[in-house]
Amino acid sequence: MGVPKKRTSRSRRDTRRSHDALTPPNVTKCPNCQEPMVGHRVCAKCGQYKGRQVLPAKE
Ligand SMILES: [Zn+2]
Repeated sequence: MGVPKKRTSRSRRDTRRSHDALTPPNVTKCPNCQEPMVGHRVCAKCGQYKGRQVLPAKE
């Protein structure tokens, strides 16, 4: 197995990790029931997407 010859410096390690950050999900309000929901997903509460009933509504 390949073994690194030199220790990776703090700067090089941190530079590599500069792209590792995760972005939080885009939370918006449902235009139908005002419930917080993830953007570009069917609303979990009313089951609507783009003004269309896609899933059976809960509650
Ligand atoms: Zn909804």
